[in-house]
Amino acid sequence: MKLLTEKDASVDALQGKTIAIIGYGAQGRAQAIMLHSSGIDVVVGCRENGPSDTCAQKDGIETMSIADAAAKGDIVHILLPDEIQKTVYERDILPHLTPGKTLSFSHGFNIIFNRITPPAGVDVIMVAPKAPGTEELKEYQKGFGVPALIAIDADASGTAKDTALAMAHAMHFTRAGVLECSFGDETYEDLFGEQAVLCGGTVGLIKAGFETLTEAGYPPEMAYFECLHELKLIVDLIYEGGIEHMYDVVSNTAEFGGRCFEDKVNNPAMKAIMKETLKNIESGDFAKKWMDDYVAGMPLMKKMREESKKHIIETEGAKVRALFHKE
Ligand code: NDP
Ligand code: MG
Repeated sequence: MKLLTEKDASVDALQGKTIAIIGYGAQGRAQAIMLHSSGIDVVVGCRENGPSDTCAQKDGIETMSIADAAAKGDIVHILLPDEIQKTVYERDILPHLTPGKTLSFSHGFNIIFNRITPPAGVDVIMVAPKAPGTEELKEYQKGFGVPALIAIDADASGTAKDTALAMAHAMHFTRAGVLECSFGDETYEDLFGEQAVLCGGTVGLIKAGFETLTEAGYPPEMAYFECLHELKLIVDLIYEGGIEHMYDVVSNTAEFGGRCFEDKVNNPAMKAIMKETLKNIESGDFAKKWMDDYVAGMPLMKKMREESKKHIIETEGAKVRALFHKE
């Protein structure tokens, strides 16, 4: 894959265009501020007098209703929660998607799982930063950027890629590097990564370790340090220089023990579970399960949240963190 950097990009494709950022949450706020600071014409579409409206105005960005923003924007960049996008799109955005406009996303969920079907004559693009919004903004303000993916689902104008790259460039993502992929690759990989490794996998591993120690009678405060707190230090080392760099820095004892244990997690049984998880994502079964839960008022999500809040790692963790953040 070719990593696109600053020398491959320009903001020319955004000249004379208005970008309507729909939603002002984690991604909406960060991306709107970055585009606005780069001199791009940005308006924010949000619920009138809601928290987003107040926040965007405080940040010095023009706000209006979602329908008005969709009417005004040449590029309509939807940064609402994935589960909300379909309803808002059908009600407030679709009526204003005239030919020649660009519909843009930071995640391909609604396109890939056929929840949003854009009309002909409209470019459909993705600019997906690979970081949480707060991190993007920090990097941008330091003069650097986070890496990102761009993808094109429909290229009615013949210049959809220029638009996507220009947006990525204006947000400094080309400083770290931008990869071009398909909507499908981004969507399936993103869902798999957050489920199997980043969110679900990591939390499962932390809890399994914490439970093993506390069930064996070790103090929960210490188990919290070992299995959760120190994880950041190890991940920082891996982030900095890769896995071998981390093994270089930790003690030889930690390295020997770690290398011996790796295969107990990365084994055929775990791989089979991961392959099943990926299949479930690719088939649309995961998306269906999540959207069914959302439509029903999120009974499963709420149950999982409640159960997790009661876990001793949360109650003990709050106490440990309170000690830490006293100063
Ligand atoms: P958020 O949950 O932070 O979005 C919140 C925004 O959505 C607020 O402006 C809120 O408005 C608005 N909103 C919520 N419900 C409604 C509604 N019913 N009608 C109108 N507005 C509503 O979203 P994220 O930033 O997490 O996600 C946005 C997109 O970016 C998604 O596609 C996601 O997959 C993608 N993404 C997210 C990343 C992240 O770091 N979170 C990373 C990469 C991609 P109000 O203030 O009025 O409630
Ligand atoms: Mg992700």
